Amino acid sequence: MAEHKPFKLAGVMGMPVVQSRSPIIHNHWLRKYGLPGAYGHFPVQIENIEAALRGLSALGLAGCNITQPHKMVAMKMVDWLHPMAEKIGAINCIVVQPDGSLHGFNNDWYGYLQSLRDARPDWRADAGPIAVLGAGGAARAVLYGLVAEGAKEIRLINRTRDKAEVLAGDFAGVVKVLDWAQRHAALEGCAMLVNTTNQGMYGQPPLDIELSALPQTAMVSDLIYIPLETPLLEAARLRGHQTVNGLGMLLNQAVPAFEAWFGVKPEITDDLRQAILATFQ
Ligand code: NAP
Repeated sequence: MAEHKPFKLAGVMGMPVVQSRSPIIHNHWLRKYGLPGAYGHFPVQIENIEAALRGLSALGLAGCNITQPHKMVAMKMVDWLHPMAEKIGAINCIVVQPDGSLHGFNNDWYGYLQSLRDARPDWRADAGPIAVLGAGGAARAVLYGLVAEGAKEIRLINRTRDKAEVLAGDFAGVVKVLDWAQRHAALEGCAMLVNTTNQGMYGQPPLDIELSALPQTAMVSDLIYIPLETPLLEAARLRGHQTVNGLGMLLNQAVPAFEAWFGVKPEITDDLRQAILATFQ
């Protein structure tokens, strides 16, 4: 007799949430692996987040992703936190346990590191200084990932210096804060430049940065994936740098979540990438 697999539900909770590509990723994998289940959008207002999270178990859901602006609030409502989520101070994934309790994870840092390894399998965080622009939520996950991976020197540069100082306080000795005005010269001798600001994203002006001090061997990474090639990545490619866009981070952070909810470690394939790219047209 064929094995009976229970129907499982998951989704992404946020406000607004309709822009999230997560349903395309997870429903693609559900179809690919022949698993009975579905993944949807859950638009939830911030004042309803606790009731919505407590309802996950009652409704029999496997779990959910959490997107902005709920990533920090939701962290306070789970019953157990993965140590990296605790350090980062935000969650992007909840897994409902058999006893109904909620476990919180942050898979963004893993997704980011994996996207770099996919692009350059021999990539190392300790290959040289890393310049990180921006000190928002995404920068927190990136910094924790880079430091966990062995980065020795990170130059953190944010338009609002105070925010960078607060973030750098978590990484005494490794992360050095520089003024926004120093961002061009700060690239001197770097092995990697990372843009975690929203500058260059669809609807935003290009990131204002001069790359001439950046060694040509340096990798240039941008967390943005709409457009896939930001003006920063285009300028870097024309100078001969290896570039990495934000799509790999988005896809890779979904892998551990899918495995936890649906029991199969999914593969990131070209047809999945094409399905996501088709939504950017
Ligand atoms: P956030 O918390 O709002 O932070 C935004 C950052 O951009 C801050 O550092 C902010 O600096 C900076 N910024 C805004 N306007 C600027 C300007 N005119 N000049 C210079 N800097 C400016 O946002 P986030 O959640 O960290 O997201 C940042 C980017 O990462 C977004 O483009 C997002 O789409 C992308 N992202 C991608 C993934 C992925 O899976 N690929 C995941 C998460 C985020 P101030 O502190 O001075 O305001």
